[in-house]
Amino acid sequence: MTVKADMGRKYRAYPTPEQDENLTSWGHHARALWNLALEHRLMIGRKHDGVSWVWSAEQCLLLTELRNDPDESVNWIRDLPATAGQQVLRRLDEAFKNWANPNHRARRPLFKCRSSPVSIPFPGQKVRTRKLNRHWAEVYIPKLGWIRFRLSRALGGELRSCTLVRDGLGWHVSFGVHVGTTTTEPNGKPGCGVDFGVKVSAWVSTELSPRMMPPSLTTGEQRRLKVLERRKARQITYAKKHNGGRYSNRLRKTIARISAIRARQARRRLDFTHKLTTDLAKNHGFVGIEDLPVLNMVKSATGTAAEPGSGVRRKAALNQGIYDNTPGERRRQLNYKTLLYGSQLRPVPPHGTSQTCPECGERDARSRVGCGREFACVHCGHTDHADRTASIEIEARARRMGGTVIKSTRSVRKDARGRSTGTRLRAAPDADIA
Ligand SMILES: [Zn+2]
Repeated sequence: MTVKADMGRKYRAYPTPEQDENLTSWGHHARALWNLALEHRLMIGRKHDGVSWVWSAEQCLLLTELRNDPDESVNWIRDLPATAGQQVLRRLDEAFKNWANPNHRARRPLFKCRSSPVSIPFPGQKVRTRKLNRHWAEVYIPKLGWIRFRLSRALGGELRSCTLVRDGLGWHVSFGVHVGTTTTEPNGKPGCGVDFGVKVSAWVSTELSPRMMPPSLTTGEQRRLKVLERRKARQITYAKKHNGGRYSNRLRKTIARISAIRARQARRRLDFTHKLTTDLAKNHGFVGIEDLPVLNMVKSATGTAAEPGSGVRRKAALNQGIYDNTPGERRRQLNYKTLLYGSQLRPVPPHGTSQTCPECGERDARSRVGCGREFACVHCGHTDHADRTASIEIEARARRMGGTVIKSTRSVRKDARGRSTGTRLRAAPDADIA
């Protein structure tokens, strides 16, 4: 287990209209470059039976060659700042390394389509920031100048990377910041188990009522979204019929409105998730969760043409519920936050957690009558909400796991030139804080 010494910081950015126009076209160029470089690597990979890849070092040279090519068809590559182009190629390296790493969940690097999030990466040493006043700061972007951003929290360290991203609501600038040394001791608080669900967002074993995520869209927004989705479908049909598939400005406007609502929804989910995971990590000695593979959970029930599945729509709706609760993101956040706050994340085997009685310890499928949220033990008669029962069982399993306490010491290693090169983790063996 490693702790990243670099933390992400994201701020709302406010480029001028000209900067906005430039950034948008750079975003499309960056995407085109990603796709071009990926195609190149796959092509070479196939030639060598997928064994040897081309890496960014080689592709950066090719990029320079392309930039010096007088041909007009590569004007777009010249338009994108060289440092940004090189950074795109380095990101692609990371994607390939994560794919090859068996301990990483990443899948094969994919091509990006026009609707993919717009993002332009820059290396940290090519950008500068300056503070304007308590609430505003600026970041210097090569070829573009200073862009204002809302300084909602202090940067707190040395810049490592800078990425400009755009969602349906506007631009953001996110920095990778090297935050330096922090040492965390076990917080000595009692542990807990959490059952994440769809109906009930989270039930913490030490609490009597569930944590509910507020609806991510208001009823008005849901209605509006439905109208817009229908309009989009209609406009696309029209475009195919009469414009040879070319998107009209009206259609683009509809798509922008949809993505604004979706971006707002994503923000609300993320807000809830951050508050939940921070609270869990800060106030508990360990956090037990079910060790669930999310990708298997959200498999479609469609089946094959020969053997069509049943309840496809129902499963699709359940999948939407699972995605709405962002299980993977919760786990990712708990992973780093527990280390920051002197807690521990303990994933436990998920089998039968909601069928096991917390009073008598008997596991029996009959204790769950029907598929309701009611738990009634057939052995001792104990009754409770099924999710609460599950959370108590998860806590018990996590407590039994006990084991080593990972003491995260974010000590900074320095190289010959005095630059920090990474962090180390020290584990204190066999000290149970439960
Ligand atoms: Zn019982």
